[in-house]
Amino acid sequence: MSNENQIVAIVGGAVAGSEAVYQLTERGIRCVVIEQNDLPYGKIEDGLPKWHTKQRKKQMALINERVDQELVDFVPNTKIGRDYSMGDLVNMGCSAVLMANGAWKDRGFPVKEIAKYEGDNFYYQNPFVYWFNHHEQSTYEGEQIDVTDNAVVIGGGLASIDVAKILQVELVSNVLKERGIELSTLELEHKGIPKALAEFDLTWEDLGLQGTYLLYRRNVRNMPLASIPEGASAEKEEKVRQTRAKILQNAQNKYLFRFKDQTQPVGIIEEDGKLVGLRMIENDVINNKAVSKAGTENDVKYSMVISSIGSIPEPIDGMPMEWSTYDIKDLETGEINGLDNVFGVGNSITGKGNIRVSRDHSREVAIYVAENRLPDGGVDMDAVRMEIKELQKKAGYEGNYSAWVAANARE
Ligand SMILES: Cc1cc2nc3c(=O)[nH]c(=O)nc-3n(C[C@H](O)[C@H](O)[C@H](O)COP(=O)(O)OP(=O)(O)OC[C@H]3O[C@@H](n4cnc5c(N)ncnc54)[C@H](O)[C@@H]3O)c2cc1C
Repeated sequence: MSNENQIVAIVGGAVAGSEAVYQLTERGIRCVVIEQNDLPYGKIEDGLPKWHTKQRKKQMALINERVDQELVDFVPNTKIGRDYSMGDLVNMGCSAVLMANGAWKDRGFPVKEIAKYEGDNFYYQNPFVYWFNHHEQSTYEGEQIDVTDNAVVIGGGLASIDVAKILQVELVSNVLKERGIELSTLELEHKGIPKALAEFDLTWEDLGLQGTYLLYRRNVRNMPLASIPEGASAEKEEKVRQTRAKILQNAQNKYLFRFKDQTQPVGIIEEDGKLVGLRMIENDVINNKAVSKAGTENDVKYSMVISSIGSIPEPIDGMPMEWSTYDIKDLETGEINGLDNVFGVGNSITGKGNIRVSRDHSREVAIYVAENRLPDGGVDMDAVRMEIKELQKKAGYEGNYSAWVAANARE
């Protein structure tokens, strides 16, 4: 079958989106990448903490290489659901639509009353990491976050360890600055706090800090820091569980945050209209599940609270949902129930915050779509490309991807 008159719309151009672009263009299929931001790097730029310098550069270069192709139309600054509706997208007349839009909505904190403190001293992980990655750039216009001692992170995955690390390196960097020592958060992350301090003949105790707390509802053996392969033997499973404990211990040794497991928030503590802590309850772990122990509620004071309990896809008007995720027929094809030839790829439906998992999933779905789901005889390319030109014009994009990247590159 000739792919000459086929064009696939891809929403989001990051890891999953650019992988789909690659698979499709390799098969001679035209793509239009519709991206909400000026540049299509997604969590590579805004999620992965900025100390992953090498990985970030490598992934961004790969994304650029894949999007900067004759067979690809790029549409920046266009958010589906805000600037262009899901209905318009489906009716645009493309051969298929791939939703590679990631998971940008933080799972709601279990204690709803905390919402009124969001932006004061309560933050969700996604905006918090965004702040960390960008706040030192001259172009940053968002709110500034004041990192304070004795903050608490509620979570348990790899991202929550990153959040605890961010708090610790920010805290130490700020305290050192007050003492006339300039040590960047990146240097502190690279060397680890004890080693970095030793170079100035200082110890953690000298700083007089309490440090950050990471709290997890189950026990360390159940933390999703390493995954147990399906059908793993008991021996393999035990090894993974031990690895989880090791990952946590190594991070604690290097960044000195505190950790407590088998506990979860059930309330907030307020004083004079301010959030000053959390009401916690102790948990048993039964069959790897957290079961709260009645009568063990206790109030603990914290200076700030960061919720790092997972990210889910943002709801988009016209996009069928099943609870908090997109309504898919199955994970293998990513096909969305109730929409014709629309498929989810990558983090938007895998539920796993992992580059490789996102890429592998997108590859599989893109190949499936290319080989099985493109309409016979193709689509009206002229009509679709005219609409794309309109969108590009509205976004102020003139069609030269590398010039656009150069003009919008961050420091
Ligand atoms: C703190 C943290 C640490 C991490 N550490 C690691 C790690 O060490 N190793 C690892 O493998 N993974 C890590 N990850 C996860 C990894 O970064 C992501 O899983 C991966 O980058 C997701 O890729 P994606 O393309 O599926 O989604 P995203 O990167 O989220 O891309 C989605 C794209 O769609 C765009 N978009 C979203 N909505 C719309 C819309 N409505 N219209 C148009 N465009 C839209 C976005 O701007 C973005 O460009 C980490 C994540 C976090 C948050």
